[in-house]
Amino acid sequence: MNDWTEQVLVRVASEFGTPAYVYFLDKVLDRVGDLRKAFGGRFGLSFAMKSNPNRAVLEALHPVIDGLDASSLGEVDRGLRAGYAPTRISFSGPAKRDHELQEAVGVGCGLMVAESPIECRKLGELGRKAGRRIPVAPRINPFRVPRLFGVRMAGKPSQFGIDEEDLETLASDPIWRSLDLKGFHIYSGTNSLNEEAIAENFSIFIDLFRRFSDVFGIAPAVLVFGSGFGIPYHDDQVPLQIPKLASLINPLIDQLKGWTPFRDTKCVLEMGRYLVGPAGYFLTRVVNQKRSRGTDICVCDGGFNNHLAAFGLMGTVIRRNWSMWNISAKATETRNRYMVVGPLCTTIDTLAQDVELRRVRTGDVIAVGSSGAYGLTASPLFFISHPPPKEIVVRTSGSEITLKDVTDLHSGTVAAR
Ligand SMILES: *Cc1c(COP(=O)(O)O)cnc(C)c1O
Repeated sequence: MNDWTEQVLVRVASEFGTPAYVYFLDKVLDRVGDLRKAFGGRFGLSFAMKSNPNRAVLEALHPVIDGLDASSLGEVDRGLRAGYAPTRISFSGPAKRDHELQEAVGVGCGLMVAESPIECRKLGELGRKAGRRIPVAPRINPFRVPRLFGVRMAGKPSQFGIDEEDLETLASDPIWRSLDLKGFHIYSGTNSLNEEAIAENFSIFIDLFRRFSDVFGIAPAVLVFGSGFGIPYHDDQVPLQIPKLASLINPLIDQLKGWTPFRDTKCVLEMGRYLVGPAGYFLTRVVNQKRSRGTDICVCDGGFNNHLAAFGLMGTVIRRNWSMWNISAKATETRNRYMVVGPLCTTIDTLAQDVELRRVRTGDVIAVGSSGAYGLTASPLFFISHPPPKEIVVRTSGSEITLKDVTDLHSGTVAAR
């Protein structure tokens, strides 16, 4: 972490308190800019809202991205309230209930990502009733994902998408006549830090997109590439080299666009964590310290109730310490090894084992990196009734820094029916 970032985080902790999430919005915009530069006009950009649905983040992205991908009707609603035209919102997710489909179609979502044959039928039915054909892209569940993806959804039984082996059969179904088949969607794995593996995955996508465009006899208007771009969470990880990644992927897209059915196709890169993850920090304060059987333990005010992923409880097989810093101690302070835990009455509330930090005093604030995605809204906030974290955004203009409390506890979430 650089000195400037550290100073801003110290200021946030003293002005707004802890626990808190801090999002550096300019950094988010820089990341969008870097992608645009590297990929040229080859891709549109879609932000997977579930990674960070804070309204301030959605509003900051509004002028620089093409659209949002919503995973629930609640997210569709949040996108609309953040000022996105419904045509800029796609709707994916494996459990869309009938009323969610109906309302998303009703508000005019630009693309319905169909995750099963039954959903295709329901959308056909809704279209018939509405007297128009609904824009649909089936999500293909590929047979294969390369190694080196942190999360893999393909090649096994999955609630996501339509198995590639089944989509062929489905192609001859009369259902498609009542739908506006816009193209195809694939998101089969994520959190890869390996440029070659991501490029290999994209070539798997392209083979499937070509095959199914041919099977369905369409020139697709849109092809969605669930990007799978990863971010470093641990000290020993290296960030993706976007220029290198682009040098591997751009020729694949140029070749695709060279084939007649794809001349006017819009390719979309869909991602969440890559855009917002590294722009966010989680601040948790040491409220108690003790020494137990030779280990120095720091007990903090925010635990996995605030940040499930950083505690290794969101699908990680082996828990490893995330990158973290004691931002309250001077850089010259001696360094010690600590066990860092949250406030919850369970042994799994462990943020770090044997982590080296600048010497910790009670009241110090620990900043956890890579926390801009899958943080607040991916955590069990209600567990043990501790107060929820704040959300603070940082914007800079010249040397001026603006901090704003944008705590967004989602009281507007669409109720179940
Ligand atoms: C969650 C999700 C994404 C984003 O995944 P990241 O790993 O955050 O980039 C993209 N597409 C779909 C359909 C998703 O559900």
